Amino acid sequence: MPTGGDDVIRCSFCSRTAHEVTSMVAGPEVYICDRCIHDASGIVRGDLQAYVPPAPGGGARRAAGRSRRMTPRQIKDALDEHVIGQDGAKRALSVAVYNHYKRIEAEEYLHAFDDVELEKSNILLLGPSGTGKTLLARTLARILDVPFSIADATALTEAGYVGEDVESILSHLLQAADYDVERAERGIIYVDEVDKLSRKGDNASITRDVSGEGVQQALLKMLEGTVAGVPPKGGRKHPEQSLVQFDTRNVLFICGGAFDGLAPQIARRLSRGQIGFHDGDATSMDPKDPTVFRHAEPDDLLRYGLIPELIGRLPVLTALDALTPADLRRILTDPKNALVRQYQKLFAMDGVDLVLEDDALNAVVEKAVRLNTGARGLRSVLEGVLLDLMFEAPDAHAGTVCRITAASITDGAPPVYEERKATA
Ligand code: ADP
Repeated sequence: MPTGGDDVIRCSFCSRTAHEVTSMVAGPEVYICDRCIHDASGIVRGDLQAYVPPAPGGGARRAAGRSRRMTPRQIKDALDEHVIGQDGAKRALSVAVYNHYKRIEAEEYLHAFDDVELEKSNILLLGPSGTGKTLLARTLARILDVPFSIADATALTEAGYVGEDVESILSHLLQAADYDVERAERGIIYVDEVDKLSRKGDNASITRDVSGEGVQQALLKMLEGTVAGVPPKGGRKHPEQSLVQFDTRNVLFICGGAFDGLAPQIARRLSRGQIGFHDGDATSMDPKDPTVFRHAEPDDLLRYGLIPELIGRLPVLTALDALTPADLRRILTDPKNALVRQYQKLFAMDGVDLVLEDDALNAVVEKAVRLNTGARGLRSVLEGVLLDLMFEAPDAHAGTVCRITAASITDGAPPVYEERKATA
């Protein structure tokens, strides 16, 4: 049986369960997961260098090699399968990650440039909410096969205050690495909402917002590289506890934030800068331009309220564009894990073939644009429309095709149910 004897569907090549992978293809008596398909196609393309055989007995603990062997282009290609648009950010991330893992390697193997120290390339992603910042970070960790954890900067406080210690971020990474410290020390941490740590008030140098700034200071050490004592099972430190020594030198930190209010600031700066310089190019930057964050500079962040030391520790500054309706339309159907495919899978498990007509998809996009929450709006619109259908489907509609029309999205019209055509 391809289930490994425990009734769980497992990949016949790496033994991952269906829950651990994005998709599983079934053959007669065998299953293969998307990761193994990816690896196998690498071999078929003659790309043996990129291939690291899965470790026996589960494969989750692949040799640390894969990340190092993927070139920036291969990393970007893999990101393209999951994330729509955001080309600039993908390129910047691919190179930063490639260099990051080269830097780790250099410490171990390269002595010719012993006196040249490669600095860490932590990354700051700027972009409106729901444009793919978390998705990019998560996808990166997944394709590189390194432990990954997400921390919410707003939940963090300085040691001694109510809330989570900054070190708790490391506990989560350790957990994600199954408590393998060495593996965790090469992982990726995504720190969301760093913009919320900014000093408040118009005049950042006078007005102090101690908790935000204190957390920025605490983060700083970690970003730079420090050995922190981490409670292995998370939670707050207490005196009798044995702590795991966690070296953050080789952890890649990706920070992200929507930086509300920064766009007009950038636009103002750019418009000012143009006076008297670009003859004939008098158009000022529109703060609503989807690409406005591409023009962000460290000075803008300083004015926004990030402390200079933190900005200095995030040398790779990259922007995500606001998503256009065309991007949103693609996000519905194109990525490997596209929303529509996810719903189709859910319905298929109840024996219903879900079909969303083209006009219906366009109507979903139109509604999502009005919500102004980026691609997150797509999910809420679809969920709103499909909820009742998911409630009814298992009892009433197994064996049918459920066709969603534009009217179902705009006016709540019921879907059209048709008999499934018999397949040969
Ligand atoms: P944020 O920029 O706020 O971190 P997320 O990455 O969490 O946004 O995006 C929320 C969800 O929207 C994702 O889980 C994904 O389904 C979808 N999404 C957002 N941006 C993209 C994108 N560029 N391509 C594909 N899906 C996206």
